[in-house]
This record gives sequence, C-alpha cells and structure tokens, in this order.
Amino acid sequence: MKRLMQKIISMGADFSTRKALKSTLRFLGVKPENIDRLYMELKNDFYRDAFMKTSPKYKIVFLPQCLRNSNCKTKLTKFGYVCNGCGNHNACKAYRIKSKAESLGYRVFITPGGSMVLKIIKKLKPRAILGVACMKEIVMAMENLNIPGHAVELTRDGCVNTDVKISEILRIL
Ligand code: SF4
Repeated sequence: MKRLMQKIISMGADFSTRKALKSTLRFLGVKPENIDRLYMELKNDFYRDAFMKTSPKYKIVFLPQCLRNSNCKTKLTKFGYVCNGCGNHNACKAYRIKSKAESLGYRVFITPGGSMVLKIIKKLKPRAILGVACMKEIVMAMENLNIPGHAVELTRDGCVNTDVKISEILRIL
C-alpha cells in the first residue's frame, strides 16, 4: 500500500494533509487503524533527505516524559523535564536516547506534550526535528508543523512506563 501511495504522490497527488490522505485511503479500502501509521510513514519519507542533510546542531529531539523512569524526580520547567542523569539513568530510556543524541550535537527536550513542543519550536526555530510519541501526538504534530521531521511511534504508549525501539532512534540519529 505504501508503494502505491508513493506512486500516486509521484504523479502529483497532494497528500500533505491527513484529511486528503484519509479520504483516498478509505476509498482504497485501507482499515482506519492503519491510516495514521501510513500517513506518518509517508511524511517521514517525504522529509527524509531534508532531515538527514541537516546538521544535528540545528535539529531538536523531542522525547515524551513517559519514557523516563516512573520514579523520576526531576522537575518540570518551561523547557520540559530537565534530566540530571540521576542514579537510575542506566535503566532510563529517556536518558539513553538523550545522552546519545547530545553526544552527536542534538538538543534534546523531554516534554509532557505537544503544546510545549510547539512553544519550544517557535522559540528555538530548529531546522528539523525528531519526535518520539504515541500515534495521536505524532499525527497532531505532523498536521501542525511545517518543518522537516521524523517521527518514531512508541511501541507501548500510556502515561508512564512507555517503550520505544531505541535501536530505531539511534539509527536515525
Ligand atoms: S535519568 Fe533523567 S529522566 Fe531518567 S529518571 Fe533520572 S533524572 Fe529522570
């Protein structure tokens, strides 16, 4: 299905909005639960070159607060949760991703949700972003942002103890 959509896009169809994509996919018989994922994959593909060509120093990584250890004591600030690399850091997925990304030159923010992400983007004006989130947040961000981005979906979502394929994120970094 993704290949078919890529072909239709290469012929000039405009699927820059989820609404346009949704009606076409419904017409083609795609199950509703697969539409958002396909939308994310097509957007990731669309921005891949621009994302990869942008230097890490101009890129921001956004991680959801739920990837922290559930007993994380760090405080919420206007730039999200400021990780202090506490004693739990070996088991903390947020820390593992953040420390690798920062060592490559990315700025990393651990945020409670999409509205803070939008505020940080408005203030710091990154040239590209990498976002880790649940599908609902990913779709919302992709519909509202107009900068090169790559999204990675949580493999287990919820408000605490979520999970993500860290190897996938490291590959993209
Ligand atoms: S390593 Fe950072 S984000 Fe993870 S639990 Fe400790 S302070 Fe919180």
